[in-house]
Amino acid sequence: MLHKKSIDAFDRARRVIPGGVNSPVRAFKAVGGDPVFFSKGEKAWLTDIDGNRYIDYVGAWGPMILGHAFPPVLEAIRRTVNDGTAFGAPTERETELAELIISMVPSIEMVRLVNSGTEATMSAIRLARGYTKRDLIVKFQGCYHGHGDSFLIAAGSGALTFGIPDSPGVTKAVANTTLLAQFNDINSVKELFEKYGEQIAAIIVEPVVGNMGVIIPESNFLRSLRDITKQYGALLIFDEVMTGFRLSSGGAQRIFGVFPDITTLGKIIGGGMPIAAYGGSEAIMSHIAPVGAVYQAGTLSGNPLAVTAGIEMLKVLKNDSSIYEQIGKNTEYLSKSIHKACTGAGIPCVINQIGSMMTLFFTEKTSVKTYADAIASDREKFSIYFRAMLESGIYLPPSQFESWFISATHGKIEIDLTVEKNEEVLRKIGGV
Ligand SMILES: *Cc1c(COP(=O)(O)O)cnc(C)c1O
Repeated sequence: MLHKKSIDAFDRARRVIPGGVNSPVRAFKAVGGDPVFFSKGEKAWLTDIDGNRYIDYVGAWGPMILGHAFPPVLEAIRRTVNDGTAFGAPTERETELAELIISMVPSIEMVRLVNSGTEATMSAIRLARGYTKRDLIVKFQGCYHGHGDSFLIAAGSGALTFGIPDSPGVTKAVANTTLLAQFNDINSVKELFEKYGEQIAAIIVEPVVGNMGVIIPESNFLRSLRDITKQYGALLIFDEVMTGFRLSSGGAQRIFGVFPDITTLGKIIGGGMPIAAYGGSEAIMSHIAPVGAVYQAGTLSGNPLAVTAGIEMLKVLKNDSSIYEQIGKNTEYLSKSIHKACTGAGIPCVINQIGSMMTLFFTEKTSVKTYADAIASDREKFSIYFRAMLESGIYLPPSQFESWFISATHGKIEIDLTVEKNEEVLRKIGGV
């Protein structure tokens, strides 16, 4: 595969944009080599500026559950844009999107629209602190909640990939209000509550972790978080920016039957446009300005184009539940086939899969259930695998610690081709 134009484009970008990218993981630092610049996406496929085609398992990091350039979303955006791109005043479509979200996500009675997942989680903890009149929050090592100061403490995703668990620029004062627990280890949470219970405003958690690779909660883990927060008068925040509308039309909370006080949403909610949200009960959400005293605002919040894209996306996901069954089955088949190929090639691995999310961990461990399990994975092997897959036309997330996203447009052709390329690549790697 030729990447000449991408290499030139990256050189040019690096002169004017830090690292040549507007979000760190895009730079391929974790896997080596230069990033690919894309010009077009259609369904499960991406085309780069050199004209190479790839089957895409990044899906814009989550939003593209219905594939790239989903026609109803594009058409709605085209229609809407003729009326202008922003008013900074209410529109009826914002209410329509809010009503849709509320009808889909069980624990949400009221919702506020913002522009990014980061903004949603930052606002959610401000609300939790304002509501409980407490300062501390509990987060889990390896979970990623965007780049807000409070969350850059042992964060996942890019922060984990690059081994920058505590970013310079985050003040001690802020860091000291974030307590760290271990996912799937309820005792680590209990210990914090026994010590600081009266000061803890909220636990924030990815109900299914995607940002240290996919890690599935053990039975009762989420329920125990619900119980302990209730017991101490703290709030439970599910960060469903990734899992919302991904694991089911009602998110992870509907699958596990555990309902948080506040939910954050993003990614799929805008069909690829910059929009996110946070919501909860009316009693809690009424603490937000202008009804309540907790301030949160946004010039472009509820942007007409983003809202329109979101409505089209959610309407489809709400009304056709067969989509989730279908992509779940396809993803399970893909993960089993890849696992079989690993075994065949003598490469130890664990694959965690739930719905249309999965991660292939190169590890000697028999399961990956914790942060410690995840980081024990062989990143060097992943890099080799990643680059070989890329050259075979399969575009995977460029880090061991990310989820692969499968879309409704990954059909038999795409899955079979992926399985075939994966086998070739693993045989090559295993044979070394
Ligand atoms: C992506 C993500 C975020 C951050 O969203 P941005 O839109 O990138 O700011 C927050 N939480 C989770 C769980 C995410 O996956």
